[in-house]
Amino acid sequence: MAGMKLAHLISAAVIGVTASVGLFFLTGPEPGDPSLIVPRVAMEYDPPAAEQLDPTQPQKPNIKHARKDTTVKLISRSAYDITPYSAEKIAELASKLDEETYRITQKAGTEAPFCGTLLDNKKDGLYACVVCGLPLFSSEHKFTSGTGWPSYYRAFDEQHVQRIVDNSHGMIRTEIECARCNAHLGHVFDDGPKPTGERHCLNSASLVFHEKGKELPEASRPIKTETAYFAAGCFWGVEHYFQMGPGVINASSGYMQGRTEKPTYKDICYSDTGHAETVKVVFDPTRISYKRLVEAFFAMHDPTQLNRQGPDIGDQYRSGIWVVNDAQRMQAEEVISMLRDAGAYKRPIVTQVEQAKVFWPAEDYHQDYIATTGRACHVTNPWSKQELQPASVAP
Ligand SMILES: [Zn+2]
Repeated sequence: MAGMKLAHLISAAVIGVTASVGLFFLTGPEPGDPSLIVPRVAMEYDPPAAEQLDPTQPQKPNIKHARKDTTVKLISRSAYDITPYSAEKIAELASKLDEETYRITQKAGTEAPFCGTLLDNKKDGLYACVVCGLPLFSSEHKFTSGTGWPSYYRAFDEQHVQRIVDNSHGMIRTEIECARCNAHLGHVFDDGPKPTGERHCLNSASLVFHEKGKELPEASRPIKTETAYFAAGCFWGVEHYFQMGPGVINASSGYMQGRTEKPTYKDICYSDTGHAETVKVVFDPTRISYKRLVEAFFAMHDPTQLNRQGPDIGDQYRSGIWVVNDAQRMQAEEVISMLRDAGAYKRPIVTQVEQAKVFWPAEDYHQDYIATTGRACHVTNPWSKQELQPASVAP
């Protein structure tokens, strides 16, 4: 870690954390994103409900608490609507199941070993909930456990699979169920392979397989999203506050606009790579506009500082908006003109607006850094209290 970053930390630690607010985004990995490999988390971890729903928290297994509020919209970080289904909706879906599937998913039953249809399935694709269609596991994480049940070392998105302590049959086990419809899936054990060391032991009957390349049913598709990229100095705090944004699905840290491929943190600190620390913001355009994100970006940092933010000095800390299309460029430039015309700053705005190049995800330890370490940052919270109210599900 560079010395300048350490100075940053010390100054930041004094400010204190402003964390949990309007809590409607769950955290989880972005499937296929190498920067988001699941951290190993002790299974007895039992967070209070408020912490469980903190959008800024790093990924943790989704442990069940009291029956969740079905009126607050929840979007997972892999962009799926995981708002819990009502009891009525679950009953309606369950009424269409065959007897065996009903027994397993609704009565926590277990199918006989070596009998499930998906045990030996080696095809690439997604394993979705048989009741509600939510993707739960991926062929990427399937392995042969020899137990007679399909086994995965992690969930497709940890927030799609919730864990419950199961004291039945004289054992203490961790039951897993679908986070959206509560269908029983199986159990999770501590004897799996790396990188998680976990074995998710599934009933084939709880899953439906969708082969890669084939069209997914509506219930198994993510919501439509857009992506924005912002550089505003050290990415830790910028990522943290973007993650809190209403309508932001996932914010992640990386490097962009430089001349080298697959840069590391060391590369960007000690060599002249041209990369800027950048936050990738995946958002729901029906809930937040690109323009509002640009305004938040300006509120978070000082766009008049050339190649530095606070204690961090160097062109990797430059202020920039990396646009993906002309519409984004127009809106970014519009906000800059507006700020200039309003005389918002004493010095000129030096923010660059450029066509986005490749986003290179930063190392794992930079992701969710503020939430994981509890450290604060010099970045200003750009969101109003009103904006941070949970969004209701339309009736
Ligand atoms: Zn389900």
